[in-house]
Amino acid sequence: MVSRVIPVDPFDLVLFGATGDLARRKILPGLFHRFVVGQMPQEARIIGTARSDMDREAFVDLTRTSLLEFSPVALDRGELLESFLDKIDYVRVDAAGTDGWNALAGALRPDTVRAFYLSVSPALFGPIASRLKDHGIATRDSRIVVEKPFGHDLASAKALNADLRQSFDEHQIYRIDHYLGKETVQNLMALRFANSLWEPLWNSTHVDHVQITVAESLGVEGRGEYYDQSGAMRDMVQNHLMQLLCLTAMEPPSKFTSDSVRDEKVKIIEALEPVAQSDIVRGQYRAQGAAGSYRDHAGNPRSRTESFVAIKVNIGNWRWAGTPFYLRTGKKLRARASEIAIVFRDPPHMIFPKMEGRRGNALIIRLQPDEGITLRNTIKEPGPGGFRLAEVSLDMTFADALDQPAEPQDAYERLIMDVIRGDQTLFMRGDEVEAAWAWADPLISGWDEAGLVPAPYDPGGSGPEDALMLLHRDGRRWREVEG
Ligand code: NAP
Repeated sequence: MVSRVIPVDPFDLVLFGATGDLARRKILPGLFHRFVVGQMPQEARIIGTARSDMDREAFVDLTRTSLLEFSPVALDRGELLESFLDKIDYVRVDAAGTDGWNALAGALRPDTVRAFYLSVSPALFGPIASRLKDHGIATRDSRIVVEKPFGHDLASAKALNADLRQSFDEHQIYRIDHYLGKETVQNLMALRFANSLWEPLWNSTHVDHVQITVAESLGVEGRGEYYDQSGAMRDMVQNHLMQLLCLTAMEPPSKFTSDSVRDEKVKIIEALEPVAQSDIVRGQYRAQGAAGSYRDHAGNPRSRTESFVAIKVNIGNWRWAGTPFYLRTGKKLRARASEIAIVFRDPPHMIFPKMEGRRGNALIIRLQPDEGITLRNTIKEPGPGGFRLAEVSLDMTFADALDQPAEPQDAYERLIMDVIRGDQTLFMRGDEVEAAWAWADPLISGWDEAGLVPAPYDPGGSGPEDALMLLHRDGRRWREVEG
């Protein structure tokens, strides 16, 4: 299948934090890739800004080095690399001070789409937004993109929203959750709303439960200090797993427009029932051989921050009452793998002999690795000697099924082009983020106030024993996810 690329309008993209880790590893390579595939018009420009005192040449050199290091295509595309670098400029700006703002205003073209990408600490979101407005740099059509984390709790998220809305309207604000830029996550919407097959089964009459797993094999080495301030609940559940939950559970929107989709997501978050502490399992990985423990990596021998969390969530609405959603995510687990498993109820009356270990029908949507779907079916075990059942899978890996182009798109590329197109569907709306924090806050404060210590677990496994019990006690079990 040939991928069709529709060029976007000419734009000036101002990248705040252009010398930082995220800009160098993801944003600049993502932009370069869009240029390589022909989506970026010739007139597009990228203006890097940071406090570092460097001229255009020095920033172009830094961009070249970053692309050669982090872009999978830069080495083979030397000629295109140089034309891409022609689009790059640099203006030294102190985001929290007065330096550089007039120069930045002078570097932008009138009548061109303006996008301001804030790849900087959230403490700078408000100061940058207000300076963009005060210097007349932000036009009515400008877009502002903000990175995660969007708040640490409900109060800080509200404060960030209030700061941004002082200078920009909601339709101009793009809050990134890069999970929404992943192909398979978007495919979840296509799977649900472009097929008639699933919708009649997509409810508590037919679905026994849903499992959402985002497992990582690495620990928090190198960023333990930062992670220790957040933990799995803030770093993964409140945003990424919540988005997966919403897309799986939401009602079909009436239109594929940003507000129709986001309205339905908000309704799901608001329908989440309060979670009892007995429905939450938190864990912290132990040391293994020479590899340190979570507490070693966090540099905090008394840390109570969780590197693993599993939660049973009930959605109090007509569609899902009686069908729990089990969420789990953690570091140092057996494999790096993410999936959503829709596990269907057993037939109401089974006429065949009991099959030991039968797990029943399930639709598994794999986000990584090998994006695709698997449908688990029960069949007759082939051969004579009685009627025994066996389970087999209908397996589809999207890359094989679609003969995908050799250069897959990173989540960031898709999202940045959506910003230029002015499409907010894959970005979180302000009320959505606040609703997610309003749900997460009492859970976090509940275990903080109770002084609960996360259960230790061995690296390379499935997390703490209690996480298995969370399902066992309901007569269910987690799927073994494969890396
Ligand atoms: P970083 O490596 O520390 O880079 C920060 C950037 O901000 C640098 O370019 C720095 O340049 C600039 N900066 C700092 N203070 C400034 C000021 N007062 N005025 C102007 N520029 C200033 O951070 P990062 O890892 O790239 O992360 C950036 C944002 O993305 C953060 O919000 C982070 O939470 C988020 N994020 C990062 C990742 C990741 O993988 N790195 C993933 C998800 C989200 P100067 O020092 O030269 O000013």
